[in-house]
Amino acid sequence: MWVAVFQQGVRIALALSLPLWLTGCVATTEPLITSQEPVVQHTVKVQVYRAADDAISHYDDAQIQQTLGEVEQTLRTRGMAVSFEIQPSIEIDESFEDLYSQDILHLSGRFRVDPDKKLRIIITNKIWSCGNNSYETTVILGCTPVGSPVVVVQGMVDGSSSNYGTTDVILWLHEMGHSVQLGHADSWKRVMTPAPQPDSTQLERYEVRQYGSLGEQLRAQVVHAAVAAPKPMSADVPPAEVNVVAHVRQAGLHGLDLTPLKSMTDAQLLPLTSLLNTSESLSAQANALAALGQLGGDLSLNAVVAYLTQGPPQTQREVKEAGLIALAKNENPEVLARATRFVIQATSPAFWCSVAVLGGDQKACARLARLAIGALAQSQQPQARAYLKTLAESSIGHRPQAMPSQPTGNLGVKPVEPIREPVDVQWSLESRRVAQKFLRKTALHP
Ligand SMILES: [Zn+2]
Repeated sequence: MWVAVFQQGVRIALALSLPLWLTGCVATTEPLITSQEPVVQHTVKVQVYRAADDAISHYDDAQIQQTLGEVEQTLRTRGMAVSFEIQPSIEIDESFEDLYSQDILHLSGRFRVDPDKKLRIIITNKIWSCGNNSYETTVILGCTPVGSPVVVVQGMVDGSSSNYGTTDVILWLHEMGHSVQLGHADSWKRVMTPAPQPDSTQLERYEVRQYGSLGEQLRAQVVHAAVAAPKPMSADVPPAEVNVVAHVRQAGLHGLDLTPLKSMTDAQLLPLTSLLNTSESLSAQANALAALGQLGGDLSLNAVVAYLTQGPPQTQREVKEAGLIALAKNENPEVLARATRFVIQATSPAFWCSVAVLGGDQKACARLARLAIGALAQSQQPQARAYLKTLAESSIGHRPQAMPSQPTGNLGVKPVEPIREPVDVQWSLESRRVAQKFLRKTALHP
């Protein structure tokens, strides 16, 4: 997907990487180039930056070296001998956390003049927006201004081997492709597909040649690429006739266009709950949660909440994130106050974890709570902003309070349980910092 934005009079296209939910290994299925083709040599210095977020602290020197080594290997088998000279230390900073489009353009501008022609790789915890993303349900895994030597990738959380189904190597190759002015391709087999997956390994010969410019500040330009996108449904079809389940299921990999569903009633959306089932693909589950959470009424919301609160916090965490963001964006006037209230409760790790939970689960609970704070910043509801302010101004030792439950229309929300003091104090510091950050960002870019 290509979207033109304007900054300082220069048209820059931002490229979105959309999610895939399959897992697998990074097999290079392409035939190797062993013929008379000369191997092109190119050496590029790489500086790596990382968001100061514990969830991605496993991106250390060894991990970076391994990933870039695999990128080198992939390119070499295709006739391009790129050597990455990794600069000695990873720069870790809060400013690389939770990036919006504007932050990414700003970072790209920051390194505009560089005699060393370094390639900058920024590993962030979460990309909240990239260009004018027209599909509301997509998860953005990478965002690189075309022609810019600043490449932004989302880090995989908790060291899992796949990132919503794609792998670091493919994702990094894809974003580096944008850096050397490559556009999107319309086949999922190609690295430059908008929704790369582990076996999207194909690179055309002209594409491979472009990687010889890595690190250079190329002229930014708008690229018109063929993009796989959800098929719009005809506006003439009355909502009741629309096969909502098929529409959401087929949107799958590229995110879901919610527009045709906006006139549907709660009852008409309810068949989507049949997709909230582990036998469905993760993308179908996430898209169903997105439609139910963002457009639904009472019954839809109950289904979303039941999904979010079921099982251990780590289970289906990526999908739960999609549901949480959808609730924060709820558009149904009858229930949006309740949806917002749920997200407010979810900003406390104690909402997701009971006292007894330890280790990895505790981390997952904090991550979900942190994401809920970011989700609140996406909400248009005044009570969302008010709560962010409360968090941002809270003093040390402040314990997030459960919102009073309503006598009617209870969402079935678990009561907030007290948690151990050290965790509590740590969290109050962290939640205050995160809330302050999102308030700053939304004040700059409302
Ligand atoms: Zn892309």
